[in-house]
Amino acid sequence: MAQLSRNPFDLSGRVAVVTGGNRGIGLGIAQGLAAAGARVALWVRDESAGQQAADELVAQGGEARAFACRVDIEEDILRATEETLAHFGRIDAGFANAGFGRPANALKLELEEFREVLATNLEGVFLCFREWGRHMSQREGGGKLVAISSISAIFGTPTQPHYAASKGGLEALARSYATRMGRYGVQVNAIEPGWIETEATEGAWKDETFSSAIVRRIPARRWGTPADLSGLAVYLASSASDYHTGDTLRVDGGYSIF
Ligand code: NDP
Repeated sequence: MAQLSRNPFDLSGRVAVVTGGNRGIGLGIAQGLAAAGARVALWVRDESAGQQAADELVAQGGEARAFACRVDIEEDILRATEETLAHFGRIDAGFANAGFGRPANALKLELEEFREVLATNLEGVFLCFREWGRHMSQREGGGKLVAISSISAIFGTPTQPHYAASKGGLEALARSYATRMGRYGVQVNAIEPGWIETEATEGAWKDETFSSAIVRRIPARRWGTPADLSGLAVYLASSASDYHTGDTLRVDGGYSIF
């Protein structure tokens, strides 16, 4: 009788990079990947916060190390890629998560402010995908590229045209890399989180009036947490997703269909 095959979500022996992995959604993803057996490289702007997050993952039984990297600086990405490969020897999955939004008046928004958001949220993802993708294309074994988008890519966001444009752009970027990287056995996808409780959204979830209006529109009747993204991250980093590419997967408790 045929034996049951091994757990397709097992990440033992795999190396994953998470940008902005020191807190919020990035840390939630890193925790999920480490729990599934991956060795995790946290690429962080703030090295001491990164080291602290890596130490916590290690204390919880994972394997992790922090590398300094501002994703809006090309040289940082080149250096962090080299350092990660020198330390871990390979990159099997890369999560381009680092990003931020900054509410603005769309009719007064300066070009400089617009570009600043795109430099991190879109150019940063491009540079990560290019470098991680090049490494994956030059070896046997394929790989996984994942970008963290936002439901702002599909909803009108009157106060965040730069943020919305960056997220819409990165979904198209992921589809582009998906078509280019398929021949190397590399799958490329985007995750579209809804309302997730992190430092970035603190002003919103701590505002009772605003928060209750949002929660009424979420069929799950609660804000999401970074841990709500971790299972999907494990799937996208694992062999379970080997035939799944060019997709955007929404994790919003049903907000967008209600
Ligand atoms: P947080 O503000 O909690 O964390 C953002 C992370 O990104 C931090 O680690 C931050 O570093 C890092 N970061 C920001 N800019 C840079 C940069 N230029 N170079 C390197 N690292 C950088 O945000 P979230 O966890 O909420 O968001 C994570 C991702 O998820 C973002 O891309 C965001 O757009 C997206 N998202 C979030 C949603 C939410 O509801 N929270 C919803 C949809 C999408 P540092 O700690 O040094 O500041």
